[in-house]
Amino acid sequence: MSLNKKTELVCSRCRKVFPFIVWDCVDTLTSPFMKEAVLNGSAFTACCPSCGKKEYVDYDMCYFDPEKNLDLRLAVSSEALAEFSGCFDLKDENCIFRVVQSRRALQEKINIFERGLDDRIIEFIKHISSIPILVRHPACELEVYYSGEGRKHFLEFYKDGEEYCISKMSMRQYTECCRMFEMRVNSLFDDGPFIDSEWVDSLLVPAGMEF
Ligand SMILES: [Zn+2]
Repeated sequence: MSLNKKTELVCSRCRKVFPFIVWDCVDTLTSPFMKEAVLNGSAFTACCPSCGKKEYVDYDMCYFDPEKNLDLRLAVSSEALAEFSGCFDLKDENCIFRVVQSRRALQEKINIFERGLDDRIIEFIKHISSIPILVRHPACELEVYYSGEGRKHFLEFYKDGEEYCISKMSMRQYTECCRMFEMRVNSLFDDGPFIDSEWVDSLLVPAGMEF
């Protein structure tokens, strides 16, 4: 069941107070429209009715998709991070449970699972695809996000917070990575609530694997 509450925000431009709906819990079965609202960011967008200023509002959210057995947690606050991380051990074993710490990362996870892909494989592909950029710009902060459009798959690269480039990800690349996983790292493939770039690093470094 979805849960939401009305809060009040103060516009950063005109200082007027206006209401905003915070979705503590999104259940895509009872509130199917919320999937799109999370994906397109409107669930996190406040628009001041007085001056029209739009701003992103980040907040903690539980996102359940019962049809896909998905339990995704967006932890923006440290309290939610502690609480959600502790839920991993209690989860239903058939459900995919993930904790993410940004709106963008939540949207990425939904995109990945919507297309029936495995986020662990995607993290590996992101890691491999980042290497040429990191070789050229070793000191940069690089963020990479998967995005899908119809049957097409993309990786979006952000360098030092700015859009840098978008590359296509082929399904061949994906299946090859799946195969490599089975052969080489399946035993290390420990599922957990945080499947992100740090997770890939934690697997590759102790195993002495450099791609
Ligand atoms: Zn305003």
